[in-house]
Amino acid sequence: MATTSDIYTLQDPTTQYPQPKFKHQPQNVPGLDGKMTPKADHGETSYIGHGRLRDRKALVTGGDSGIGRAAAIAFAREGTDVAINYLPSEESDAKEVIALIEAEGRKAFALPGDLSDERFCRKLIRDAHRHLGGLDILAAVAGKQHAVDKIADITTEQFEQTYRVNVTALFWLCQEALPLMPPGGSIITTASIQATHPSPSLLDYAPTKAAILAFTRALARQVAEDGIRVNCVAPGPVWTPLQTSGGQPDKKIPEFGSETPMKRPGQPVEMAPLYVLLASQESSYVTGEVYGATGGLEIS
Ligand code: NAD
Ligand code: MG
Repeated sequence: MATTSDIYTLQDPTTQYPQPKFKHQPQNVPGLDGKMTPKADHGETSYIGHGRLRDRKALVTGGDSGIGRAAAIAFAREGTDVAINYLPSEESDAKEVIALIEAEGRKAFALPGDLSDERFCRKLIRDAHRHLGGLDILAAVAGKQHAVDKIADITTEQFEQTYRVNVTALFWLCQEALPLMPPGGSIITTASIQATHPSPSLLDYAPTKAAILAFTRALARQVAEDGIRVNCVAPGPVWTPLQTSGGQPDKKIPEFGSETPMKRPGQPVEMAPLYVLLASQESSYVTGEVYGATGGLEIS
């Protein structure tokens, strides 16, 4: 059964969404939203737009599922045309997102491909800019996370690929996008509670998220004078296929999110308002900042 939410009525956030325990549900990488139990909530039935991003043009990487899907839906409901990037094997998830964006009367573009390829990253930005007829918002949400308990068991290939997808691709995307973005444009990166509170089994992933924080702050200060803002969303544990496809050891899935003061994982829809705020002109004086949504774990 899909979780459905009412995200506007006063209520107790600790019981607003599913709480542990969850079923074991291992999947191959990249995981699919379509296979999650309970279904994650991306705001499909709850997010209401208020014209906060009217006639903007956005590219969302990882827009097929999880947090990126929630951001893509919210952007469309706020009035934005949206291009999404994802891996070709995620086509079934991507199709659902494209249909949801189009249902809002906004243009949607599917731009699949692998972000670990520099040429693809640069082409992705140019294609998004061309299809959308501009590029105002770059939400870099895609990420790779694969838990390994012992340092001895992490391969060089995994270590380098995690850096390539999470950090190096961000550099390529931003380098290509900045000359195309107008003053008022917004880049939003996606770090994690792992940037400051690393888990022992995420020895490759956690440092990439710390790198994203530093990259965000440095780039923000570099391009502020051009009128481009760069900010970061840092989620805590969120119910997405990244986690059930090896981001967490499968043994940890039943209790996923129980370590937070709210004792439950976040849902992707709970991240969406941060992406909207940071993309919109409402946050015109905010740059180089990190906005956490962690159920009470502190990003500091
Ligand atoms: P998700 O699996 O739904 O999204 C990750 C997406 O990354 C995938 O959909 C895939 O399209 C994309 N991706 C991975 N490798 C790629 C590649 N080589 N080329 C192109 N695309 C690729 O999971 P999610 O949890 O929504 O992840 C989104 C972001 O949130 C990631 O950056 C992740 O690190 C971050 N994050 C997630 C959590 C969490 O608990 N779920 C917590 C903190 C941060
Ligand atoms: Mg996906």
